[in-house]
Amino acid sequence: MKFNCLVIGAGLSGSTAARLLAEAGKKVLVIEQNRYIAGNCHDYLSEAGITVHTHGPHIFHTNFRDVWDFVSRFSQFRLFQHKVLSYVHGMTVPFPINRDTINQVFGENINTEDVPAFLEREKAKASFATPAENFQDAVIGQVGQRLYELFFKNYTIKQWGRDPKELSAAVAARIPVRSSRDSRYFADKYQGIPIGGYTKMTEKMLDHPNITLMTGCDYFQLKKNLSSMFDPKKGITVYTGALDKFFDCKYGPLEYRSVDIQFRTIDREFYQDAAVVNYPNDYDFTRITEFKHMTGETSDKTVICMEYPKQTGHPYYVVMTKENMAKREQYMEEVRKLEETGHFIFTGRLAEYKYYNMDQAIKSAMDKVRGLI
Ligand code: UDP
Repeated sequence: MKFNCLVIGAGLSGSTAARLLAEAGKKVLVIEQNRYIAGNCHDYLSEAGITVHTHGPHIFHTNFRDVWDFVSRFSQFRLFQHKVLSYVHGMTVPFPINRDTINQVFGENINTEDVPAFLEREKAKASFATPAENFQDAVIGQVGQRLYELFFKNYTIKQWGRDPKELSAAVAARIPVRSSRDSRYFADKYQGIPIGGYTKMTEKMLDHPNITLMTGCDYFQLKKNLSSMFDPKKGITVYTGALDKFFDCKYGPLEYRSVDIQFRTIDREFYQDAAVVNYPNDYDFTRITEFKHMTGETSDKTVICMEYPKQTGHPYYVVMTKENMAKREQYMEEVRKLEETGHFIFTGRLAEYKYYNMDQAIKSAMDKVRGLI
């Protein structure tokens, strides 16, 4: 056999697995259905000379030292601390909610020490279940009704196309609430943007004598023709595609939320004050990203994108409802059986049906490959 390993998908998960397997001496075939690599972190240099993220803003952040060391082997990073503003009441204010947000939206003048008591008073006026049963409870249980309605309710309805009560509290856990004036979106120790982009970084990961890459190849169509090159009973299959698809949707389809991303090049130096401005209550898009803030590239033009969430299309997000998570469990039971054979790895946002950040996707691939070899 020509290959010991077959990696399905050349996004961050597949590329990490491929690299580690190749470094362990395995001959690895990577097949990717798109004609490009890097999956949902794909980026490219636009005509305006600004690197744009094809599938919306990607900011690398991690507390895992081993993940940071790993990605740093394939790209230098521009040290960048992501900040987000939210457009409410006709003002752009810091988001996640911090002391300044509260002072600006309510015309208060409170200190850091006063914030917990302020939030307690907000919560005392609201009703919510503890422990939180869903997204709405989780947010109201942290910040009360007024801040929930201003910043979260409508954004979440737009983003997920459903009542926030149907979503898991775990989605809310992604967003901190701060008493301080810290206005960063993430608090992780390592944060940055790969200089030259994620596509280049992924290209370098895949650039190894033991790796063969084929793009524009659909695994499900190609499967039978692979038998002369790879024997799944003897080798390792790393699957990073949609979890339900691998099992022919036998327990029913899982939902993957999609986004329509509209890019615009604007003939002025800057469009907005931060890399991302969220629009919880206005317009049909959730947020506007202006890439040059992240990349530090200079140009007399700027490129922005607006995100319009939608139900079908290219998969971006797992949808954390009770029904989807119950189906996920059924599929994961099958995954566990396959992984126990030592011939399969399911890794990544799509294949594990998990709301992973980039570093978590890399970490999962690292841990699973290391566990196997
Ligand atoms: N969210 C919100 N208002 C915001 C930003 C986020 O209600 O201004 C909620 C929303 O439900 C969103 C979730 O928090 O889907 C997670 O936000 P995050 O920024 O992590 O989303 P991502 O960058 O993964 O799209």
